[in-house]
Amino acid sequence: MKIIISHDIDHLSVREHLFKDIVIEKYILWTLIEFIKRKIPYKLMIKKIISLFKKNGWNNINELLEYDKKNEIRSTFFVAVRNGRRINYSIENAVKTIKMIMNYGFEVGVHGIAYKNYNDIKEEYDIFKKISELESFGIRIHYLKNKENTFKLLSDAGYLFDSTIYSDKSEQIYTISGIREVPFHFMDTLYFDPLKNFSLFDIKKRTIDLLKRFIDQKKDYFCIIFHQRYFGNDFPEQKEWYKWFIEYCKKMNYEFIDFKTLIKKCL
Ligand SMILES: [Zn+2]
Repeated sequence: MKIIISHDIDHLSVREHLFKDIVIEKYILWTLIEFIKRKIPYKLMIKKIISLFKKNGWNNINELLEYDKKNEIRSTFFVAVRNGRRINYSIENAVKTIKMIMNYGFEVGVHGIAYKNYNDIKEEYDIFKKISELESFGIRIHYLKNKENTFKLLSDAGYLFDSTIYSDKSEQIYTISGIREVPFHFMDTLYFDPLKNFSLFDIKKRTIDLLKRFIDQKKDYFCIIFHQRYFGNDFPEQKEWYKWFIEYCKKMNYEFIDFKTLIKKCL
């Protein structure tokens, strides 16, 4: 079994959201709901609120890069080069982050905002190409937005692959409108949701059950999305799940693989 680890970068700081959107307000509300539903203790609720004032809150890029490198995970980071749908980090911070990821030797792609208009899609492609100086790279659209013609537009813009489609039917790599689609199978936010009553134990069990189903069906790969914001001590359950998942994959001798290598193998 091969494992693709991908990280979508939706936030690079708490501050970037001030007076621009309602991300901080939503975070506070969710923290209160989690406390009222007794999903988190009082101490953690306070810790989560205090963490909003920390200098590098919601960044965790360094920590995650170090962790992934130490564990020899060939992860892929999707970084946005345009603002939209509550992504509000500056292009300067995006550039810094893309360079930092590349310095670590990890794969990097576009976290796309545009998905309906060709010129906007192409503009994001060109901006990212200029920053990264990469010849080929992929994309995942933020909030997994897509329309019927999105894939054709991504293909026309020049993207190597797309990984926007969530498949709960364990679908594997295929071609759609001329672009390689690499569906993903697990996303942290689908499980770590205060409105759903999953304990960390439940989520680990569901993860193992999913993996076992993939192995029974002789599937080639299992792709996950883990948002880097969750690799902080203000999200202890998410962070613990990620570390547990990596350890579990290592224990089971699963192979970590990046998108480009998988695509090359399938050509
Ligand atoms: Zn996103």
